[in-house]
Amino acid sequence: MDLEKTILRKVGEAIAKFEMIRDGDRIAVGVSGGKDSITLLESLLILQKRAPIQFSVEAFTVEQGKFMSPIGPVGEHLRQSGIPWRYFEDQPSLKLLEEDPSHGCDQCSRFRRRAVYEIARELNCNVVALGHTADDFCESLLRNAMFTGKLSALPPVTYSRKGEFRLIRPLVYVTEDLTRRWVRDRCTPVIPCGCSQKTGTVRRSLRDYLAELEQDHPFVKETLIAAMGNLDPERLLDPRFQGQSQDAPEAFPILTGM
Ligand code: SF4
Repeated sequence: MDLEKTILRKVGEAIAKFEMIRDGDRIAVGVSGGKDSITLLESLLILQKRAPIQFSVEAFTVEQGKFMSPIGPVGEHLRQSGIPWRYFEDQPSLKLLEEDPSHGCDQCSRFRRRAVYEIARELNCNVVALGHTADDFCESLLRNAMFTGKLSALPPVTYSRKGEFRLIRPLVYVTEDLTRRWVRDRCTPVIPCGCSQKTGTVRRSLRDYLAELEQDHPFVKETLIAAMGNLDPERLLDPRFQGQSQDAPEAFPILTGM
């Protein structure tokens, strides 16, 4: 199957399974300069033409001062492909970078979230599409399991805190080897943010670990994604889900102390 068909099938499956898009939605897509958000934007625009429902897509970029080079070529590429694109400098983020250049991802993401909601509001959108990929879901699952003691990843659909925006992640089934090929095949310029090059982070270690596993088990990420949709809670250790099976054997007295 060709690349475009593969990606569109996976995005379509996610949209349908989690009922991400509804008739009349206005979807804001933040183009981060990386391969994933461009793939998200372009695949949504293709699906928009084929969908049995009406929805619109608005593309924009938030400048937080983190791009490794000016983002202009990405915008130019989009405009040349007939995709309207808007560029917003987020002054609070630029001020933060000036006053505290070593601030962490938490603060940066908080600033970005606020800016994205402001822009989505300005563009009269009710949905914000996020570019998290299958790789992000897998890393998030492993990070939460290993470092926070919780079996969870990312919600495919959720709402902003005040319920103003539906937040959707249509790339949940799309791995980054596919988004890499998507931008390469279309000669799309990619402008990463400087911190994506950081080493020594948990995220980077998990990414490297999964890449190493993939050498011998090429579908390990797909399998992890399938596992997230196929829970067997009785074989985990949360008492809320124990003993619910119809044919569960009675507990051994010796183990329950009776
Ligand atoms: S990686 Fe960089 S741009 Fe991304 S959230 Fe962290 S600090 Fe911000």
